[in-house]
Amino acid sequence: MGVSKAVLGEPTIIEAMIQGGVQFIADSRIENIQKMKKAGISTRFVLLRTPLSQAESIVINVDISLNTEIETLKKLSHYAKAYNKSHEVIIMVELGDLREGVLPCDLSQFVEKTLSLPHIKIVGIGGNLACYGGVKPDNKNMHELSKLTDTLEKKFQIRLEIISGGNSANYKWFKSAGDIGRINNLRLGESILLGRETVNRKAIPGLHTRAFQIIAEVIESKKKPSLPYGKICQDAFGNIPDFQGRGIHQRAIVALGRQDIQMSGLKPDNKLEILGSSSDHIILDSNDHKLKVGDEVKFDLDYSGLLSAMTSPFIRKQFTDRKNRAAA
Ligand SMILES: *Cc1c(COP(=O)(O)O)cnc(C)c1O
Repeated sequence: MGVSKAVLGEPTIIEAMIQGGVQFIADSRIENIQKMKKAGISTRFVLLRTPLSQAESIVINVDISLNTEIETLKKLSHYAKAYNKSHEVIIMVELGDLREGVLPCDLSQFVEKTLSLPHIKIVGIGGNLACYGGVKPDNKNMHELSKLTDTLEKKFQIRLEIISGGNSANYKWFKSAGDIGRINNLRLGESILLGRETVNRKAIPGLHTRAFQIIAEVIESKKKPSLPYGKICQDAFGNIPDFQGRGIHQRAIVALGRQDIQMSGLKPDNKLEILGSSSDHIILDSNDHKLKVGDEVKFDLDYSGLLSAMTSPFIRKQFTDRKNRAAA
């Protein structure tokens, strides 16, 4: 499954994922799925997060949803009946990371209750690690998921089509595990988009790690002291700032701020140094760069940078492909 949430289901990017061979597109937000469908994208859509209040819209818009609560499944069944449909679900199992998941000891009973809902079809089970608790996917927890699959299939005489082992953090396990057991699916966002696995953030061979860049405009470039002068109070975000003196130096300000981007997710792609930021400005030590007003400054993005930049309505998204770049 290609996971589209970090790029808000941007159709150009999602088309590329589908051309790349993913069989499903998964997103956490129904709005993104609606956007992709409106853009004419045709695939099996999976919803990664399933709020009770959106049950009707989920039944209408989504092929498969990930679930952990009977209340929600009942409501999905109710609307599936109303729309004369069968709604497919993957039951998420807790494997230790303590985000979503039915505890393994409660799984049988949970599946039994789900099977009694006439308009719900269980198509698989899944696990999610390395999100909240930072727990690594390994042979032990993946084997547990495989074993639970066998147990459920046997006990209820059902066939589970999708055994979804996890997210981009599963790449390393998948490449190194000799035996992947029953796991036949991963839900991959960051590793496809940014070309890195997410346990050690190592580059994946053959993938681009700089497919996304953000470009900001220089709006001021001056030599200034490095230490503020006057009485110090709280800054715009309620912190008392602390500065290192580095004498008079060349500073540049770019028109990009915390309203657009998570600052920790931004990496200058050259010798610029980020000194600080406010809602609408980033202050750079521009060293030997002779930046002029109107110049462009490029930054690389990590996952939080990509997520926030894609979400900002102030950032214009522009796509280039190899063909266009060669022509340019
Ligand atoms: C976001 C998400 C993913 C994808 O995570 P990546 O680290 O981007 O691969 C997979 N599964 C679930 C349940 C998610 O919420």
